[in-house]
Amino acid sequence: MSYDVVIVGAGPIGLFLACELRLQGVRTVVLERRTEIDPTLKAGAVAGRGADVLIRRGISELLGDQPTMADLMGGGKLGAESTQATTAKPGAPLVGHFAGLWILRGGSQPAGMPIIAGQQVLEAALEKHATELGADLRRGHALTGITQDDTGVSVAAEGPEGPYELRTGWLVGCDGGRSAVRKLTGFAFPGVDGVITGHQAIVEVDDPDFFPLGWHRTEHGMLARGPFPQRVLAVEFDGPPVDRSAPVTREELQASLRRLSGTEVTVTAVHSATRFTDNTRQAETYRVGRVLLAGDAAHVHPPFGGQGIALGLGDAANLGWKLAAEVSGWAPDGLLDTYTTERHPAAARVLHNTRAQVALLAPGPRVDALRDVFTALASTAEANRLLTDLMGDLDLRYDVAADHPLAGRYCPDLALTVSGTATSVAWLARGGRPLLLDLDDRPGVRHAVRPWAGRVEAVTARADGAPAAAVLVRPDGYVAWAGEDVGGLREACTRWFGAPRE
Ligand SMILES: Cc1cc2nc3c(=O)[nH]c(=O)nc-3n(C[C@H](O)[C@H](O)[C@H](O)COP(=O)(O)OP(=O)(O)OC[C@H]3O[C@@H](n4cnc5c(N)ncnc54)[C@H](O)[C@@H]3O)c2cc1C
Repeated sequence: MSYDVVIVGAGPIGLFLACELRLQGVRTVVLERRTEIDPTLKAGAVAGRGADVLIRRGISELLGDQPTMADLMGGGKLGAESTQATTAKPGAPLVGHFAGLWILRGGSQPAGMPIIAGQQVLEAALEKHATELGADLRRGHALTGITQDDTGVSVAAEGPEGPYELRTGWLVGCDGGRSAVRKLTGFAFPGVDGVITGHQAIVEVDDPDFFPLGWHRTEHGMLARGPFPQRVLAVEFDGPPVDRSAPVTREELQASLRRLSGTEVTVTAVHSATRFTDNTRQAETYRVGRVLLAGDAAHVHPPFGGQGIALGLGDAANLGWKLAAEVSGWAPDGLLDTYTTERHPAAARVLHNTRAQVALLAPGPRVDALRDVFTALASTAEANRLLTDLMGDLDLRYDVAADHPLAGRYCPDLALTVSGTATSVAWLARGGRPLLLDLDDRPGVRHAVRPWAGRVEAVTARADGAPAAAVLVRPDGYVAWAGEDVGGLREACTRWFGAPRE
């Protein structure tokens, strides 16, 4: 077998998965048909648990100086529509928006602040990191065929020197919404067709003040200017694009801006443009034999609220260590199937909330009324908390068959002291290993995990206000077990990290 895992697609999710697999020593190749990073303007931020994923592997530090949400608000000039936003002072802790209504920090669980970074900045950092970790990234190589059997997958590819074949143990499709891996393997991809045509673009126009900054619903749809200079987001509700593959033209953009703004604005140059719709579809399962899906390949939804990368990073963080366990030979039975059972509901929720956002952005007097009611509700602390949880996946709880309040939840980033040195959960998580945090200096707890030495790293630490005597944290940051019952600890280690060594 020449490779353990072949990943198709070097978008943010394929690249992050490559980093995760390399952290665990898995021989990984990434096939990417593009010869360079796609320059089209897409994501501008990664929020919620997606930000935590990047912080806990130290990747947020590789992005260089980036603006904050407060910078993007432009000192309050953006004029978002919610009551909270208009009363929010510059520098208020904004964590995102729901259909253009700002959401303030204040979820039921702690989370890192959004990371404001263009998709290209993130992809460049991830590409460098993955390559430094030893991933074999092949640009200009497209997947063309897949044949799998009980022992592995034969992958047909077309590279600069012509067609060739690779043999691998596992194949992961991170090849985006129109995934060839998904289609060639025959994954079912049910969902709802789109009704909108949206454009996001960086344009030059003859009258830069043709429309106010911020998000605004109009007679025909929704038009937003900012937060980046020259950026427009235009959404019309007259049906999906006729040809989604055709290049976006200057004329098409100008016509949409004119219809939405009711002006005669002229687009004089287009620097970047993308077209989207609101079809929401999700693969029924994320695994067929030795072929898996992650990121947009597994689920598509409209971009409102900017959740796509965060969702995909959550997939990759969940899948990486489980796939590595399979490759290493110590994976317990059924571990890899928990990838679908844990991640499918998370994406279903995003599909659902983006459909709700489309409904709230539609034109017309009934939606005007609905939006007024929704805005009033969203301005209450409780509804703000619900939206923060929903958009950031903060309240996600996996079924880990343990009953402590922390079990199944994302481990908070506790400030720790280890051997007199200040550290944190986020810092200890960088190696991507399962962690047993012994927070009450209990030799029995440390002794209990000795049969998993080499798989589980035991750390004795002090934490002010420790939430439990000990916490077992999976590599994706979720708590597998917490408490003091060593019998339960051993069961959790066996369930997630395989049989104990003699
Ligand atoms: C207008 C817009 C705004 C957005 N804003 C945000 C935001 O603010 N925040 C956020 O989190 N998300 C946002 N998103 C969503 C985000 O861009 C996507 O969720 C993200 O790109 C998905 O990453 P991915 O790696 O799964 O797929 P992709 O980024 O689509 O990457 C797939 C890769 O696979 C490659 N590929 C495809 N087929 C093959 C093949 N046969 N062989 C080899 N390679 C192949 C492609 O070239 C591509 O590089 C936005 C999306 C849009 C359209």
